[in-house]
Amino acid sequence: MLLGFKTELKLNNRQRTTSTGEVILGAKSYKKYEAKLSRMQWLNRHKIIGSANWKKAQMQIARLHMKIANIRKDTLHKLTTILAKNHGTVAIEDLNVSGMMANHKLSKSIADMGFFEFRRQLTYKCELYGSKLVVVDRWFPSSKTCSNCGAKKETLSLSERMFECSHCGFILDRDLNAAINLSQYVSAS
Ligand SMILES: [Zn+2]
Repeated sequence: MLLGFKTELKLNNRQRTTSTGEVILGAKSYKKYEAKLSRMQWLNRHKIIGSANWKKAQMQIARLHMKIANIRKDTLHKLTTILAKNHGTVAIEDLNVSGMMANHKLSKSIADMGFFEFRRQLTYKCELYGSKLVVVDRWFPSSKTCSNCGAKKETLSLSERMFECSHCGFILDRDLNAAINLSQYVSAS
């Protein structure tokens, strides 16, 4: 079974879509811990550096950092295992991460997503489970192309969550459309 997998960069949530329409939810949310973390960091600014209270808070902050990192790690492992284990071929995009890092708004979500780590895990797990990993060139317009008729849009902003084809009228969830394009691209090549 061939699976296209779109790691779309969403600014507000962690869901990811496969070409079979399966939506894989990301982290069991660590958002609440992040909120707690920033609150603690803010409160700690008012304490005297080096004081007992400050040290105590620093310890709690360090523990929270670790907790958040562990949830992320755990989620990524679950996701890459599901992808590698259950599909003969997995197609992902070779994201131009360094180029996108220059975009300040996107850089956080990319850091969040840990794309390098995602790809590293997927590579060795596909090998482990005997499936094939295909990395599609970053210039392939998976998001801008209509998976129904093949027409290509000139522009598509990140905020447009639905793909609407002006050529054939096809409407589909943006990520699903992109994931289908990836799998079609790989099966055609
Ligand atoms: Zn179309």
